[in-house]
Amino acid sequence: MVNAALIETLKKGTSFGAPCVLENVLAEMVISAVPSIEMVRFVNSGTEACMGALRLVRAYTGREKIIKFEGCYHGHADSFLVKAGSGVATLGLPDSPGVPKGATYETLTAPYNDAEAVKKLFEDNKGEIAAVFLEPVVGNAGFIPPQPGFLNALRDLTKQNGALLVFDEVMTGFRLAYGGAQEYFGITPDVTTMGKIIGGGLPVGAYGGRRYIMEMVAPAGPMYQAGTLSGNPLAMTAGIHTLKRLTEPGTYEYLDKITGDLVHGILDAGAKTGHEMCGGHIRGMFGVFFTGGPVHNFGDAKKSDTEKFGRFYRGMLEEGVYLAPSQFEAGFTSLAHTSQDIEKTIEAAEKVLKRI
Ligand SMILES: *Cc1c(COP(=O)(O)O)cnc(C)c1O
Repeated sequence: MVNAALIETLKKGTSFGAPCVLENVLAEMVISAVPSIEMVRFVNSGTEACMGALRLVRAYTGREKIIKFEGCYHGHADSFLVKAGSGVATLGLPDSPGVPKGATYETLTAPYNDAEAVKKLFEDNKGEIAAVFLEPVVGNAGFIPPQPGFLNALRDLTKQNGALLVFDEVMTGFRLAYGGAQEYFGITPDVTTMGKIIGGGLPVGAYGGRRYIMEMVAPAGPMYQAGTLSGNPLAMTAGIHTLKRLTEPGTYEYLDKITGDLVHGILDAGAKTGHEMCGGHIRGMFGVFFTGGPVHNFGDAKKSDTEKFGRFYRGMLEEGVYLAPSQFEAGFTSLAHTSQDIEKTIEAAEKVLKRI
């Protein structure tokens, strides 16, 4: 369906370097789907979406510092590549060579699911924090859901301190629910970033939020951000047709069912074969760790036996199952997966877990 639509669009031109009507169509779909989004800007990747959102929160608040969480990934822009977990984590040491200290100096970090740590950062940096960025369900440290009350606490803390709450829904958007994690948990962020699913396999990202915040962005406002290929007709077409497919009844119930079966199957196989494991899922997003858990943050996730994960991963590959190639990546199911695929995967997992 997506491919057929792409071929039709292709005949009319792949890129105009200017807004096209398909951009408005997808924008309207995103705005009507995601509770907090009143205006949206398309870009070409999740990284770009987060870069745009970062500039936006700084422009809107006139503040420079941000808080992010250890183990959360917001693309490869300098400011987000901050080493997590060390005693001086709050000093914002860069994570990658090539990232200048200055670029991450304003990036403060806290452990995920630790609202007290966030509260302390706000107290220590009064009036200086522009926003809290997070994955509302972590997928880039393995699958880590928010503890009850955590998202609410961040909503309250940001409000009390005149800061914005940014949900990075590049992974969770249209995956946990049609309206993303914010619909699933009933928490309304100020700004949202998206990517992955809204591109339907082509390079797309987006950031959006309340109209009064988004009106900061050029050409409506003074915050510069633009892109030659942003909103190009091919990417928009893939997004439009993917979202259409997701609005069919029963989509998320189906994903929830097969993903739940998969995770429970793997954990049962782990228990039978004597491995300490834990894991979980929400709708089409899941993960298992090789530790008894519970895993509430990146520190907990790092207790997982990654050597064993490596053996599991390679064993599964030999059985014809390609999992995400890191203990610290969530897995996804798709509508193309059948319950037979799930059964076969569980059988393969049991076979592999027996020998590792
Ligand atoms: C994948 C991802 C990104 C980066 O998106 P790219 O399209 O790879 O640049 C940002 N945030 C989250 C939560 C992601 O999962």
